[in-house]
Amino acid sequence: MSVDKQAQYDLLIINAEVFDGSGSKSFYQDVAINDDKIIAIGSLNNATAKTIFDASGLVLAPGFIDVHTHDDLELIRNPQMMAKISQGITTVIIGNCGISASPYTLLDVPPDPINLLGTQEEFNFASLNDYINTFSEVKPSVNVAALVGHTALRAQVMDNLDRAANPVEISLMKTKLRIALQQGAKGLSSGLAYHNASCAPAAELEELAAELNAFNAIYTTHLRTEFDGIIDALDEAFTLGRHANVPVVISHLKCAGKQNWGRSRDVISHIENAQQHQHIACDCYPYNASSSTLDLKQVTADFKIFITWSMSHSEMAGQSLADIAQQWDISLMAAAERLQPAGAVYHGIYEADVRNIIKFPTTMIGSDGLPCDPHPHPRLWGAFPRVLGHYSRDHNLLPLGQAIHKMTGLSATEFMLEQRGFIKEGYFADLVLFDPKTIKDCANFVSPFEVSTGIKQVWVNGQSSYQEGIGTNKSAEQRAGRFLSHNSTQVSG
Ligand SMILES: [Zn+2]
Repeated sequence: MSVDKQAQYDLLIINAEVFDGSGSKSFYQDVAINDDKIIAIGSLNNATAKTIFDASGLVLAPGFIDVHTHDDLELIRNPQMMAKISQGITTVIIGNCGISASPYTLLDVPPDPINLLGTQEEFNFASLNDYINTFSEVKPSVNVAALVGHTALRAQVMDNLDRAANPVEISLMKTKLRIALQQGAKGLSSGLAYHNASCAPAAELEELAAELNAFNAIYTTHLRTEFDGIIDALDEAFTLGRHANVPVVISHLKCAGKQNWGRSRDVISHIENAQQHQHIACDCYPYNASSSTLDLKQVTADFKIFITWSMSHSEMAGQSLADIAQQWDISLMAAAERLQPAGAVYHGIYEADVRNIIKFPTTMIGSDGLPCDPHPHPRLWGAFPRVLGHYSRDHNLLPLGQAIHKMTGLSATEFMLEQRGFIKEGYFADLVLFDPKTIKDCANFVSPFEVSTGIKQVWVNGQSSYQEGIGTNKSAEQRAGRFLSHNSTQVSG
């Protein structure tokens, strides 16, 4: 690395193997950055730059986009965002699965699963603008774009979530959603599998989704079920997408429950048929275990359920549900009830299904990491390097360029992140440099907080934001994340 203060460029990255995010073959060219933009790509060996970075032997890719996160409050709580920036992630999408920290006025203890985001006193964002203002003060390391959660809307206007919303409540929810869309939200998310949204009929969602098209916004959904009834649940989401004339993203696509193992081919072909008529994409995390709050509907002896936390019996966390039930000498279900509220990892997905879904061309990568969990699923710290190392390099599941496309260009296109997700002249300089020979997720189910290896350097909006072995920027002045508002304007952070 050399430094020249009178130079043409702020930063010049030379000799890298460049994957531009489109999924096409790599090329060897130099990439020049001024301020926050990529301004030249070519043979620039005669150019001068304040900083020249020799990236021989390394891959240069667009910064990764984590399309499925629950980082709403984590961005404010821990703005360094080490779990994400250390994976090469430069943008996160918040507000997934029906739960968002804004717009949200909390009246009480957050209901399940909004409690996954944080504690009661952390919910201070009655409007998305309130959130954006705090984001801009705190200045996290990564960019963010926001969805509005259906369950969060319900929790603010309904006295009881065990029923459908009435017309007055729907009207109040529509107003809150519309204002958030005006303030820059990307779309609406739902989490219909969760008890506090499952009483919402399709018609309730369709009324809300009618707001989306005017804002060119999208609908993302944690399906009503990922178990036996998954085809009907997909159809419910597709019908909404057609009626509202909006793109649909199926969240963390999977075939859950032992009796559904091996159904991924049927599920994918069902999606492909529907894609003939409407725009559909999906995301997934690259593991054969899921994680969420401890759901009594998912209690089974078919596979291991690991308890990550329990509010009522914190001393039992860190053990399997079966071991806890044995110690208490009660049934699995009785133990699950006694542990409530609680969090769990469910080792209940078939590996061949995980692989089929990762390979499916319209699948994006999203971590679904749970940053508040005291013993989180390793996807929080490892999802992106795991796709590149474990699945692409070690298991030859898909070529590296395609793997990168699923976390960059495809994601930016589906979530309409303007001038991001590709290495192109004029695009924002969100970049990651990694070693394709050594990249590896190190977080696992026993040690979930391990930093991945092989991510050498990360730039966010042209600012050096992470270096392997050194870490991430500590002060707000050094951090460069921005709130990515829908409809073009970018609020700098
Ligand atoms: Zn979900």
